[in-house]
Amino acid sequence: MTHTITAIPGDGIGQEVIPAAIHVLESLNLPLSIQFADAGFRTFESTGDALPAETLRLCEASDAVLFGATQSPMTKVEGYSSPILTLRRQFDLFANLRPAVKDTIDLLIVRENTEGLYSRRERVEDDGQTAIAERVITARASERIVRAACDQAMQRRRKLTIVHKANVLKETCGLFRRIALDVTAQYPELAVDEVLVDTAAMLLVQHPARFDVIVTTNLFGDILSDLAAGLTGGLGIAPSANLGAGRPAVFEPVHGSAPDIAGQGVADPRAAILSAAMLLQWLGYAETAAHLTRITYATAHTGQTKLTADAILQQLQQVTNHAQ
Ligand code: ATP
Repeated sequence: MTHTITAIPGDGIGQEVIPAAIHVLESLNLPLSIQFADAGFRTFESTGDALPAETLRLCEASDAVLFGATQSPMTKVEGYSSPILTLRRQFDLFANLRPAVKDTIDLLIVRENTEGLYSRRERVEDDGQTAIAERVITARASERIVRAACDQAMQRRRKLTIVHKANVLKETCGLFRRIALDVTAQYPELAVDEVLVDTAAMLLVQHPARFDVIVTTNLFGDILSDLAAGLTGGLGIAPSANLGAGRPAVFEPVHGSAPDIAGQGVADPRAAILSAAMLLQWLGYAETAAHLTRITYATAHTGQTKLTADAILQQLQQVTNHAQ
């Protein structure tokens, strides 16, 4: 069976790192059918649409999407909306998975991607002197994100940490915590603990190796996953996955379009290659994904896009030849 992948390089260094990652995927002799599609600010400027209907149609018909990065305009531009946010909404990609790996650290943050403090319910009162944000937590979204995290933990070291702040946010985090404890009780094979988010930040810095899978709400996950990326080598090697209940899933490097280095051939393609490895894992090519992940993390940054992708491929071929 052939798997269909849509590659969307987008803007800036997305145009460099996604072709490098696709070059790796295409060299693996797997039954993948890969097509490129347009999206982003450049596309918006030329077509008036940041995510053209044809791109959306290709994504809909795909098993997975590899997304680069798109440049967000500094000021509000009429008619422009972020393609990745549209894709997340369109395919209800509720789980954001962010692995962080280095030396003894091997952890995965599973972040709820649809609600919480990013529910976009903000208002101003009191003649502009008071600003209010509503934090929406639902049982449904909490249940599915914790279940997704449990499923991930079952494939790893079977340890799950629920991160919340229920001692202060008694209603919102209280609901998330209660649901999380109910769901995890259905996974007796998992070692489950709960940690307050501030303590989690400290423990991530002091004892990162204690964590396997962390599950948390939207804002906490956003902050902790950047902290974890900072601990393990930064944006150049931080991949991510956006998963929903079905297909397609969307995989993307955490970094943005990096206009400061775009076009210079110095962008590190490893975050995109690691995202491609997550894509392979999700499609079921577990062994290839594991080799690619290990080698990519181990490969020193050579500073040249093509060279790095080829160096990774060369090592991968040695491993697979050896295994044959
Ligand atoms: P955007 O507005 O698209 O988010 P940005 O520059 O604000 O772009 P990032 O693209 O995430 O945000 O980049 C932040 C910094 O990290 C920049 O200095 C950029 O050059 C650097 N950076 C990001 N990704 C990479 C990469 N793959 N390789 C090397 N440096 C990178």
